[in-house]
Amino acid sequence: ARLFGAQGASDPLDVLKRVYGYSAFRGQQLDVVEHVVAGGDAVVLFPTGAGKSLCFQIPALCRNGVGIVVSPLIALMRDQVEALKQLGIRAAALNSSLTRDEAITVRRALSAGALDLLYVTPERAVTDGFAEMIGDMDIALFAIDEAHCVSQWGHDFRPEYRGLDCLRSRFPGVPRIALTATADPHTRDDIIERLALSGAKVFTTSFDRPNIAYEIVERDQPRQQLLRFLSRFKGSSGIVYCLSRAKVEDTAEWLNVQGVRALPYHAGMDRVLRDAHQDAFLKEEDLCLVATVAFGMGIDKPDVRYVAHLDLPGSVEAYYQETGRAGRDGLPSEVWMAYGMADVIQRRRMIDEGGAAEEIKRVERAKLNALLGICETAGCRRQAILAHFGEAHPGRCGHCDTCLKPVETWDGTEAAIKALAAVYRTGERFGAGHLVDVLVGTINEKTERFGHVDMPVFGAGKDLPARTWQSIFRQLLAAGLVRTDHSAFGALQLEPEARAVFKRERQVFFRKDRPTSGKAARTAKG
Ligand code: ADP
Ligand code: ZN
Repeated sequence: ARLFGAQGASDPLDVLKRVYGYSAFRGQQLDVVEHVVAGGDAVVLFPTGAGKSLCFQIPALCRNGVGIVVSPLIALMRDQVEALKQLGIRAAALNSSLTRDEAITVRRALSAGALDLLYVTPERAVTDGFAEMIGDMDIALFAIDEAHCVSQWGHDFRPEYRGLDCLRSRFPGVPRIALTATADPHTRDDIIERLALSGAKVFTTSFDRPNIAYEIVERDQPRQQLLRFLSRFKGSSGIVYCLSRAKVEDTAEWLNVQGVRALPYHAGMDRVLRDAHQDAFLKEEDLCLVATVAFGMGIDKPDVRYVAHLDLPGSVEAYYQETGRAGRDGLPSEVWMAYGMADVIQRRRMIDEGGAAEEIKRVERAKLNALLGICETAGCRRQAILAHFGEAHPGRCGHCDTCLKPVETWDGTEAAIKALAAVYRTGERFGAGHLVDVLVGTINEKTERFGHVDMPVFGAGKDLPARTWQSIFRQLLAAGLVRTDHSAFGALQLEPEARAVFKRERQVFFRKDRPTSGKAARTAKG
């Protein structure tokens, strides 16, 4: 609702200063705010920590009526509502965790026009009952937070998000703002299409997090490696991510024995204890939180100095999201991951044995390969990560491990040309698995059916083993020379930069040690 501006529109900068106590907007915040205050729809793709929340909170405070915020997690809502109340903003959440009396209180406040912001789950936002309840009220805006949840290709697909396009038809004229930190082109298109936001203005900013230093190591003795990494951060806090709850518990216990103050956090823990550990992490300055990915969404701790991964995430998006929790205050921070063949096998098994449709599984495998490409790249990690989000970066950032300690490489220009030719000659319609079969000359149903056995590229890569070709495709992906087309179920396609390689104007170097090959497979246990 409109603050300090009874006679006219209230001024966003005034609200920023008086309510939040900040002196200036950051980046494009003001552009977004002004656009939404004026009644426009917006899609906001800013990385974690950029300050997306203000982009909908301030317009809600500047416009008439209540701002409705759709948010996927009840825990996340609770934290945001608490933080808003502290600032004197009249915020509330309506969700299944409320008692009957609490829900009645919220409804009363809402109908009395005594709320600035109301948080609801997507399930509730799409019901007829909810539409009726807010039907004759002034609504300042709808904010759809974590909007990537609408996309099947995203890392957090929530089918309920699909129904949210109804907000447009039910409440025409109320501005809608969708926000996410996931911005690969495919997810972005999905958000615009699925949420009926084709008329919205899209706001994007660079995804580079210049204060984060990236390091990815081959797993050898994971606990010792972790301890060595953590020894750099005496007196500061950070997060160690593990895949399983059991590993979270074991790792936290072991770290304490080693003299690192650590607490576990995962969804299987008792709620009270889990919240206590989260609170400790938010408050304390020298604490290592060992967690599954259940931890982190919506956590606002600016001084997380490090994020370590003991297991490989499932995608670049997930990796970026999780590492992005470091250094929100802009100060130098480090992220580190140890990975080995065991992870790759485990992740592939999770996909294979999961219940998804075959097309989705293909996309999942392609996503995993994109992350492996970043693990294996001989080039700058930052450049490879940004290339994944469609963003160019000159590379040699100077603070990732591959920039600081260049890895041994071999001139793979000829091999790259063969690999790119295989993509091109087969019509840019196939995934890496099939292309490798073509290159090494595997006669099977598929290579025969498509007539690939008769092509000059068939068997052109016999000189290298299949697993080297697999790694080559992943590294080409990381180098931005090919891309995965998710709408074609993981088919590889050429990027324009590939032309320079064909013309031998650009050399391509591949990493000499291949962590996902034999040696690592034997040593990767943990
Ligand atoms: P995001 O949702 O994009 O991850 P948040 O909205 O949680 O980011 O903001 C991250 C942090 O930055 C929060 O602590 C927020 O209060 C702070 N912040 C946002 N905008 C500004 C600003 N203009 N000036 C100072 N701090 C800001
Ligand atoms: Zn670099």
